[in-house]
Amino acid sequence: MSKIDLKKVDFETLIVHAGQGADPAYGALATPIYQTSTFCFETVEEGADKFANKVPGYHPVYSRSGNPTTRAFELKCAAMEGGEDCVATASGMGAVGSVMLAFLKQGDHIIFDNSVYGGTDYVASHDLPDLGIEVSRVDTGDLEAVKAAIKPNTKIIYFETPNNPMMKVTDVAAIKAIAGSDIRVVVDATFAPPPVQHVLALGADIVLHSITKYINGHGDALGGIVVGKAEDITRIRKHCMTKINGCPPSPFNSYLVLRGMKTLAIRMKKHCDNAMAIAEYLEKNPYVKTVYYPGLKSNPQHELASRQMENGMYGGMISFELKDDVKGLSSFEAGKKLLNHLTIPAIAVSLGDPDTLIEHPASMTHAGVSPEERLAAGITDGLIRLSVGLENAQDLINDFEQAFAAI
Ligand SMILES: *Cc1c(COP(=O)(O)O)cnc(C)c1O
Repeated sequence: MSKIDLKKVDFETLIVHAGQGADPAYGALATPIYQTSTFCFETVEEGADKFANKVPGYHPVYSRSGNPTTRAFELKCAAMEGGEDCVATASGMGAVGSVMLAFLKQGDHIIFDNSVYGGTDYVASHDLPDLGIEVSRVDTGDLEAVKAAIKPNTKIIYFETPNNPMMKVTDVAAIKAIAGSDIRVVVDATFAPPPVQHVLALGADIVLHSITKYINGHGDALGGIVVGKAEDITRIRKHCMTKINGCPPSPFNSYLVLRGMKTLAIRMKKHCDNAMAIAEYLEKNPYVKTVYYPGLKSNPQHELASRQMENGMYGGMISFELKDDVKGLSSFEAGKKLLNHLTIPAIAVSLGDPDTLIEHPASMTHAGVSPEERLAAGITDGLIRLSVGLENAQDLINDFEQAFAAI
């Protein structure tokens, strides 16, 4: 384990060292991949003591409930978010599902923002109601609407900030003030991980991420994390992650994320700088009607975003809508041509990769959401979502210029 006092160092130092240090077996500096399902005991007594948690320190017994590579990844993520503990999962949805099943039972009520990740939307619309859990959908940007939706059986208020795909920012501190101490505020911060924002410090009780996106950052592994108070994380781990969901990450994926996280601070800065340059370019483009990016001064939530997000960083995700008539084409038809003519961005869902990714929410990520719900959340047929990668910003702008010219 690292000897550095993580409370005294900058995030750039913390993210390189937290959770890791020379491995106890041979002093390996890179955390080894403990690719094992089980762990041996010298004696029956030792096994019994380890199972009964009577042995001090970290003592894994079976890799579904604990693995040293995964534990290093969890400790790094707890430090990254400034939380007491972390539990890692095999995917972001594993994290979402484990939180839901840990804190909700039949008869309970949960409030969701009206626009969330497609998979989470499915859980809210189908899985939770099937379990007898009451679900309300409100615009969490509207604090009065959130207040009005609270009932005596409300257990969780759940949202993403910025959200998918409109980049709407929700005021975490204001929501926690409304929730009080009995209702957990759960934030999916996948779209803007630290160092862009630290939502626990803003008042969230639990933060979760799909680390498939920025945190791993290389587009080659799925995973999720949940960070919060030790008591909450223990409950999620014991009752859900290791039992009904049974969804730990593989040791190999934990190793990949540990490797990816070493560069999280510099990657996020570059993603944010690139996104700002492209948002400013798109805002001036004559074929573009609206650009949704909280970093733009013209964005109605710019002031709130500047309070919640740190060091002039606003994330690497942008959505934009073309004008209703582009060279005689509808915004949808023109959007299709634009995407097909781009040479650098890959037409693909997901986000947070080194490669720029571009997609059409109405026919891809949000195809499973009903047209009425899509429109209520502002997701028009002409909306385009862009995950700005780590390429050169001017190269990306040049590529957009030639693709707009080719429509
Ligand atoms: C991708 C994503 C998820 C789900 O994560 P997986 O790793 O794909 O299971 C949840 N929330 C948000 C905001 C996401 O972007």
